[in-house]
Amino acid sequence: MNKKLWLNTILAANMLGLSACATLTEQAEEVETVQPLTLFVFECGNIVTNDVSIFSPGIGVGEEKKLTDSCYLIRHAKGDLIWDTGLPDQIGEKGIDVFDGKFHMSVSHPFSEQLAEIGVDPATIKHLAISHFHSDHTGNANLFKNAELLIQKEEFDAAFGADPKSFGFNPDSYSELNRDNIKVLQDDYDVFGDGTVVIKRAPGHTPGHQMLYLNLDQTGPVLLSGDLYHFTSNREHQRVPSFNFSKEQTLESMQIMEAFATEHQAQVWIQHDKEQNETMRHSPEFYQ
Ligand SMILES: [Zn+2]
Repeated sequence: MNKKLWLNTILAANMLGLSACATLTEQAEEVETVQPLTLFVFECGNIVTNDVSIFSPGIGVGEEKKLTDSCYLIRHAKGDLIWDTGLPDQIGEKGIDVFDGKFHMSVSHPFSEQLAEIGVDPATIKHLAISHFHSDHTGNANLFKNAELLIQKEEFDAAFGADPKSFGFNPDSYSELNRDNIKVLQDDYDVFGDGTVVIKRAPGHTPGHQMLYLNLDQTGPVLLSGDLYHFTSNREHQRVPSFNFSKEQTLESMQIMEAFATEHQAQVWIQHDKEQNETMRHSPEFYQ
């Protein structure tokens, strides 16, 4: 029973001179069982580059930098949402070299195992949203076959169009998603209709890049960055990686998202920032 209906019931009971005790007890029990919005953070891979200037043209040429690769589970009373799926579990601890050896990528703790450790079956996930379709974000997408995919139209056209590889996407990594269960977005999207979990359109890194805004009871507002920024100094200096789809769109998205974060007093969690992530609670711990 929702709050308004409950109040009306009490009112009606009082008007009739009836006792509302039973209704009150029922409501108290119901309040206790409503699940508060919960966020789990997972480490879904390690990335080492031998030239950080790929992310910050002209800055740190030839310098090594370690990044992390994060993915997230958001538990809402109306269902679960996975945000990003990391590097493929299959590459393992040994990992792989990519982009002519400029990057080494590996997975220490498979995402599927981390979900199993907290009792989550990927088949029960209701919604899947991926910040963008680069292969370090779609690595384990095929685990979530039953989920509704929430994707911006431009990203959909690139990922499911004629030449996804030209955008740096690996179509094999998301080939098992249900094509009949895709919601194509052209704007921000309030996933559960109560303003607590909102996809924010932020194109530029890829054609339909997006971010995720969460309004948690205790932690407060949080904005998950996607790859708008890869680490804190790029945020401070608004630097745009050389491989972005559009520099102009990226800078515009940075401006819009910074204004949004200020307005909502939201923390910006930079998903690839290893140092920032080391300060965070990871699954099985969580945020509410
Ligand atoms: Zn990435």
